[in-house]
Amino acid sequence: MGQARNPDDLLPSGVVSEEGDVPSPGKATRNRKSRIGCMSTRRPYVGGNWKMHGELAAAVELTENLVAAIGNTVIEVDIAIFPPFPYLQAVGHALGHAAILLGGQDCAAHLEGAHTGQTSPAMIADLGGKVALVGHSERRHELGESDAVVAAKARAALAAELQPVICVGETLAQREAGNALQVVEKQVRAALEGLSAPQVGRVVVAYEPVWAIGTGMTATPDDAQSAHAMIRTLLGELYDAQLAGSVRIIYGGSVKAANAAELFAAPDVDGGLIGGASLKVEDFSSICRAASSS
Ligand code: PEP
Repeated sequence: MGQARNPDDLLPSGVVSEEGDVPSPGKATRNRKSRIGCMSTRRPYVGGNWKMHGELAAAVELTENLVAAIGNTVIEVDIAIFPPFPYLQAVGHALGHAAILLGGQDCAAHLEGAHTGQTSPAMIADLGGKVALVGHSERRHELGESDAVVAAKARAALAAELQPVICVGETLAQREAGNALQVVEKQVRAALEGLSAPQVGRVVVAYEPVWAIGTGMTATPDDAQSAHAMIRTLLGELYDAQLAGSVRIIYGGSVKAANAAELFAAPDVDGGLIGGASLKVEDFSSICRAASSS
């Protein structure tokens, strides 16, 4: 609890800006030990994915209630909300100067052009958005988005100065076949293809096992930790240990107020991407508070 933050003050990365700045002493951070042996300070990160729920008045009311509950008080956590595109502007107005980032649930792989029905990352930024989800499993599976498309969207988001939250995760069949980590590794490698270290420093990775999304089935903290540790180790191999230690890797898949704290206590779990529970102010606030004390 403490002073209000301005969302414009938030670093796009958890730790290091493109210029290599470290967070100011006033910014809350925490020490965590990564599996690659690097002590790092990573700000917890919690995102609320509202999916295709609600209507305009309800979106504004939810935002106002969130601002009242956590907008200027849970300052140790980067909090982002992802309303449906048509409500982005109204939600942005309702957020005002609260320390909650506005994000798109997706973005196009292009900054502009003849792409009917798509929303460019530049348009999201134009409405005050700072973040975009890319590669959510509902888009990969309902719309057939490939790893290459997800990578192109991550690059476009970065080009528009949005922070991409790159979602990866295995299906139940892939987990049961013993391939979960290989699947996730392939998705992460593909999504980061061609990105420089400073660009990856601005990315958040969301590990979201498909079988856990919206099902009420949650990965155990140990299973989440092993996927997160693998991703962090991979970042160390592709880039370097310092960068790997700074990137936020968050867990998504039926996170609730009741299980958030034990998931966030895993050493490489830096917060969560929340679907259903992000639509309830009390639940989402309580999950953000769990992240702040993890
Ligand atoms: C999600 O949409 O990314 C998600 C994790 O949903 P839920 O929390 O409802 O499982």
